Amino acid sequence: MVDLMRTVLQKVQVEQTLIDQYAREAAKIVGEDNVSVNRADLLATCRDYWPVNNVWMVEGAVPALPQLVVWPQNTSEVSRLLALANAKKIPVTPFGEGSGALGGVVPLKGGITMDLKRINKIRFIDHENLMVTVDCGMNGALYEEELNRAGYTGGHFPQSLRCSTVGGWLSCRAAGQFSTRYGKIEDMVVSLEAVLPDGTVFSGRSVPRTATGPRVDHLMLGSEGTLGIITSAALRIWPLPGKRHLASYTFERLEDGLEAIRLFMRAGTRPAVVRLYDAQETGNHFPELGDKRCALILIIEGSAKIVDAETSVIEDCVTGQGGLDEGAEHVEHWLEKRFNIGVASMLFQKGAVLDTIEVTTNWHNAHSTYLAMQQALLAVEGTMLASGHYSHVYPEGAALYVTMVGFPGDHKLAYYKNLWQAAMEAAITEGAAISHHHGVGLHRGLWMAEEHGSGMDVLRKIKAAFDPHGIMNPGKLGLEEVQEWQK
Ligand SMILES: Cc1cc2nc3c(=O)[nH]c(=O)nc-3n(C[C@H](O)[C@H](O)[C@H](O)COP(=O)(O)OP(=O)(O)OC[C@H]3O[C@@H](n4cnc5c(N)ncnc54)[C@H](O)[C@@H]3O)c2cc1C
Repeated sequence: MVDLMRTVLQKVQVEQTLIDQYAREAAKIVGEDNVSVNRADLLATCRDYWPVNNVWMVEGAVPALPQLVVWPQNTSEVSRLLALANAKKIPVTPFGEGSGALGGVVPLKGGITMDLKRINKIRFIDHENLMVTVDCGMNGALYEEELNRAGYTGGHFPQSLRCSTVGGWLSCRAAGQFSTRYGKIEDMVVSLEAVLPDGTVFSGRSVPRTATGPRVDHLMLGSEGTLGIITSAALRIWPLPGKRHLASYTFERLEDGLEAIRLFMRAGTRPAVVRLYDAQETGNHFPELGDKRCALILIIEGSAKIVDAETSVIEDCVTGQGGLDEGAEHVEHWLEKRFNIGVASMLFQKGAVLDTIEVTTNWHNAHSTYLAMQQALLAVEGTMLASGHYSHVYPEGAALYVTMVGFPGDHKLAYYKNLWQAAMEAAITEGAAISHHHGVGLHRGLWMAEEHGSGMDVLRKIKAAFDPHGIMNPGKLGLEEVQEWQK
């Protein structure tokens, strides 16, 4: 049997006597059943969906291992556990459901992994003010189902809905498939409750906007576990839509589809779902449409009169750019398949490296970034496919989601590094931002200095103020020296 305890990235660990002491004291806080050094638990929480993990796993290795897993059940326990770790200077890595795509939960320096899944309730639905207060560890699909039973939607549907938590969404600035109407997760936040490494619990006020200085609770958005732990959030909710209109079109050229979207966003419409695929992805996802034209999938929802008015404006913009009406059927097909994530594992078993990279652009560089990234990826030896679609749009631009597949034989890791280097260089040269919603984790840290410029020093100062001992999720967000393997 393969021994999966070999760690590729871990250079240091915490002294065992300190861990033993911590385990005893943690058990007094959360109970013996919520503390574990069991191998199965260490393995279950040491990795996420970063494709590099799979390559190592097949070789019988993991990126790094925690030395202890704890499961707090409320904010007060998180506070006491963090204060204890801080006093002993033991690293803590927060863990939601491990669906991150960039190694964010890899416990590079060992220590404690804090699995937040047992803090998992909707605390309160505020019907009058259209808000919900929800715990960080609640599973995404269960969150949406419970809201639906009360007559609402949370409006947030990442493809990983069934395998991610609310806290993970907030920590990574996630985006759902219906983001054009409901916003990214950060647009839904009214306030957050969080715990700092020294155990301080703080929260923002759940009022519509404030002008009382910077919102300290919002600083936790996108912090990926490096500043503290988000324990709950007050989020916006919406009554279930009265009407839903499904529409699809095809365009001769990708840029015609982009122009149609730019125009209907400029006109003030906000369809929930807007997905524009290049010809290759059109052929893959909707074979009945062929692979010569570019498909646009739209869902417009809300109150019936508003939906009708938006549909009319959108139709004008789309047909004005040469869009051909392809009916509702393709959207129904997409709705059925939208959470299906099996293809990556199937291709991996056949020896492929498959990954996706999402970046965000303005309208002026939306198409050129697509062309530049595709060309750069196809130039990497071993690449079989580099395709793209736009799936989150704004008045000021659109997010581009690129998928690449290659068969590099035995050189999977070298190929993977080359792919990312090529894609990031192309995106940066075109003026795109390097991530729209997957976040940074471990892997994207390499390009953070280029992305932020002098802002990176500001980020490091914030980190030092929140976490002076550097215990929170060390090695992530590009805040520390970048891992050797990436160079
Ligand atoms: C197949 C697939 C599809 C995906 N589709 C989408 C998509 O459509 N949209 C999208 O935005 N993302 C998507 N992702 C990425 C991923 O699902 C998101 O990043 C998600 O938000 C992570 O949630 P999680 O609970 O699994 O977090 P984890 O992976 O467990 O953690 C992610 C990071 O957040 C930190 N963290 C987790 N919880 C907390 C907390 N409460 N407080 C502080 N830090 C915390 C962790 O330390 C880590 O750094 C996809 C991933 C996969 C594998």
